[in-house]
Amino acid sequence: MDARLEAIRDTVLARNPGEAEFHQAVVEVFESLGPVHDRHPEFLEAAILERLCEPERQIIFRVPWTDDAGRVQINRGFRVEFNSALGPYKGGLRFHPSVYLGIVKFLGFEQIFKNALTGMPIGGGKGGSDFDPRGRSDAEVMRFCQSFMTELYRHIGEYTDVPAGDIGVGGREIGYLFGQYKRITNRYESGVLTGKGISWGGSLVRPEATGFGTVIFTQEMLKTRGSSFDGQRVVVSGSGNVAINAIAKAQSLGATVVACSDSSGYVVDEAGIDVALLREVKEVERGRLKDYAERRGGVSYVDGGSVWDVDATVALPCATQNELDGDAAARLVRGGLLAVGEGANMPSTRDAVAVFQDAGVLFGPGKAANAGGVATSALEMQQNASRDSWSFEHTEERLTEIMVGIHHRCASTADEYGQPGNYVLGANIGGFVKVADAMLAQGLI
Ligand code: GLU
Repeated sequence: MDARLEAIRDTVLARNPGEAEFHQAVVEVFESLGPVHDRHPEFLEAAILERLCEPERQIIFRVPWTDDAGRVQINRGFRVEFNSALGPYKGGLRFHPSVYLGIVKFLGFEQIFKNALTGMPIGGGKGGSDFDPRGRSDAEVMRFCQSFMTELYRHIGEYTDVPAGDIGVGGREIGYLFGQYKRITNRYESGVLTGKGISWGGSLVRPEATGFGTVIFTQEMLKTRGSSFDGQRVVVSGSGNVAINAIAKAQSLGATVVACSDSSGYVVDEAGIDVALLREVKEVERGRLKDYAERRGGVSYVDGGSVWDVDATVALPCATQNELDGDAAARLVRGGLLAVGEGANMPSTRDAVAVFQDAGVLFGPGKAANAGGVATSALEMQQNASRDSWSFEHTEERLTEIMVGIHHRCASTADEYGQPGNYVLGANIGGFVKVADAMLAQGLI
């Protein structure tokens, strides 16, 4: 790493002890940025990097609620408003027991660059709670969401900060959060949250957008090698919203998705995952992949283990951070891997990324490859601002244009900096320069 950036990195790491995932995200970005600072010494003079690594505002709050048995439960809520150089803070809320400040900061930090790459006017933020929705009734989830919003409402707004979903937060949770915001503020402020239901201000394609976008980005990478999804053998990790829609899109382009996973195990379905059944089990029944395997029949379900033991030509990690390590990456490479498109945020460890890049595998990092979700959130904000709602076709066309644009920006930036095909470098520099220019223009704030 560039020596000037090393000193800044060490200070950032020391100022934020115990936040391993945030450290990982910062180090990965810093490793790309040396050449930018050779060209732009003004970024160093204005301490852009030091400012970028310090969130503009961090909110941590108590979330008290009662469960169905009448017992009091206490969770911790977070919203990290990281950077507003390009627009209102924008990013999802994650409800998962692993959530703590270090996870929210890594996600918020990634979101700054991702949102910049979309070309839409959105800053970076992220939030969530250590609340575990798994096994909770609808009524418990509603009471939790209402309590969460009773604190959060004072910090957000269509021009201030616009949350959305992430792991554990989907249409049901956004509905309860929006209802409580409306009730407290007495405003039908559609643009305060995205991922809303289609009849009350949501956008068509938003539910599909992250998974679809990941496949569109990966398809653009494959095209640079004269290839496409047609005929590829694909493995997807996860079986939530991102994974299901990535599977659907990849199969619509002629690929066979032979495996996917949940936190208990994975299924191998050589005929190709039955998306309609998977949606039924996961989205309607909120069931487990084991249930899919039983209902589908003729497929193997592996309890525990790693889905990355299944050979693939294209891997789409769509579960969670650090789910794919160096050993798994090496195994996939030996099995004939051509491309990786990250549907989740930072699913590949730093070792895994190095293995892919050394082996010449096309590697699309999450902040580029999974930007379709937040980009379509920005399209939802646009529709809300103009009190309009667009057709599926038009919205999907916009999403496709945006993903192709992101691919182009990453690829051309990598070329410009003498590292053709390095999408990590292209995404980090492409996102950073846009934010840094805006920060310079807006003065020392
Ligand atoms: N949570 C998603 C992401 O990681 C979407 C955020 C949004 O739509 O604001 O980008």
